Amino acid sequence: MARSVVRSSAAVRTAEPEALAALHRRVAAQEALIRRQAAALARSREVFERASAAARIGVWECNLADHALTWTDVVYDIFDLPRGVPPVRELTLECYPPDSRQALETLRSRAIEESSGFTLETEIVSAAGKRRWIRITATVESEDGKPVRIFGMKQDITEEKLLLEQTRYLAEFDVMTGLANRSRFQAGLATLAEGATGALLLVDLDGFKAINDSFGHAIGDDCLKVIATRLKELGGDAELVARIGGDEFALLVGPTTSDDAVTTLAETIVSALGRPIGCGGIQSTIGASIGIARVGDCSAADLFVRADMALYAAKESGRNTHRMFEPTMMLERRSNRAA
Ligand code: GH3
Ligand code: MG
Repeated sequence: MARSVVRSSAAVRTAEPEALAALHRRVAAQEALIRRQAAALARSREVFERASAAARIGVWECNLADHALTWTDVVYDIFDLPRGVPPVRELTLECYPPDSRQALETLRSRAIEESSGFTLETEIVSAAGKRRWIRITATVESEDGKPVRIFGMKQDITEEKLLLEQTRYLAEFDVMTGLANRSRFQAGLATLAEGATGALLLVDLDGFKAINDSFGHAIGDDCLKVIATRLKELGGDAELVARIGGDEFALLVGPTTSDDAVTTLAETIVSALGRPIGCGGIQSTIGASIGIARVGDCSAADLFVRADMALYAAKESGRNTHRMFEPTMMLERRSNRAA
């Protein structure tokens, strides 16, 4: 019996190093797994940081119990704050215009109260004095119905805003002259209120093809720019000055403008555009004809047709002059077409 006890102790002694070795192997395997997971985590963190830096998205988080705040590097970069300084709300709040700051505080309080979130877009002036547009998003997290955390993103959307502005500009303005384009002009006509008064002047340059033919398209373009500037100056009080076609412009003048004032304006334009124009190194006289229709005498759709008929009459009567629409012009146009 005693011998068998001795044998069994010896067996335990040999088993012990094996169990220990197995334990070491398991620990080593666990450690290797943890190292791999840590490396994978570090890689995904790096990918996240690169992606958020490229998209200019900063992440922020505030513990509502002790107000401890954390910012990722991009938050510091957006506000041009040194990355080392402890995150303090006042540092970013100082960069908002007063109304945005007020709006942000209201939205934040309401989101905490309702355990909800919000989005706010605002312009800021960074600590380095740079103007930027940012989008702030926030979400409140609650535990047992009590808000514990508010977190979200701050994204630099300056380029997005710029692109949107350019797209809007291209949709509504003529790039060459900077005047409103045909589409903005048509929208202006369509929104004329019932009972509105005033006048529409359609201005078409006389013999403009000859300018292109004689001096080339580039000089033709320069002349159009000079004419657009003159028209803008002359129609200073007009609600809308637009380039609606190649050499065709439109002025929509307001309700306070009397018939006499419209006629005087038309005469001034004809005389100003009839003066020699210096552009692209050449001196040339172009001239223009104008058709006028009164706002309020007909529908907005008919207004353009009437002004166009009056313009046709001005061209027919020898150009370099203006004509006010008269109902007889409809008959004349019909009989001209029939002939
Ligand atoms: P009219 O006296 O009857 O008005 O004749 P016009 O020679 O002025 O010719 P019209 O008004 O019938 O046509 C406008 C011309 O303007 C056609 C084209 O040669 C020129 N044009 C149109 N768009 C542009 C442009 O963007 N740049 C330049 N340089 N010329 C243009
Ligand atoms: Mg013309």
